[in-house]
Amino acid sequence: MLERTFCMIKPDGVARGLVDGIKQRIEKSGLKIVKSRDLTVSEEQARKLYAVHKEKPFYSGLVKLITSGPSHAIEIEGENAVSRLRKLMGATDPRQADPGTIRGDYKEDNIYTADGTMKNVIHGSDCTENAKHEAAIFF
Ligand code: UDP
Ligand code: MG
Repeated sequence: MLERTFCMIKPDGVARGLVDGIKQRIEKSGLKIVKSRDLTVSEEQARKLYAVHKEKPFYSGLVKLITSGPSHAIEIEGENAVSRLRKLMGATDPRQADPGTIRGDYKEDNIYTADGTMKNVIHGSDCTENAKHEAAIFF
């Protein structure tokens, strides 16, 4: 299925200069970048992006992290783009992400922010419906 998905290089990834390297990995995997832009995520955008997590203990720290500095939003197209991007990203916890994945290869020594939020460089949509919803927040 030809799909679109959405991802965002989070402030920790942008601050570490990983934007170009990550975009190259995405394109090298055969996925096409159809839109991309630099932005700093607002509180309102963060609350929309992470609405599914609003009851979770890590929610406020997550909103704080994603709004903490410049991010880079990307819309991607390709066959089975959602699952291919998730595979390329690797597991949520970078310590469990396989070598060769973005989160695995760019893992920091200390993966936590001061308030216990996990830094893992990149966000990626988990289904086409959410991809559409998330892309509309930022493009
Ligand atoms: N997160 C966290 N602690 C947790 C789980 C998640 O700080 O125990 C953060 C992490 O930055 C993650 C984001 O919340 O990327 C969204 O969590 P989700 O379960 O949706 O993981 P993802 O889809 O990003 O792999
Ligand atoms: Mg998620």
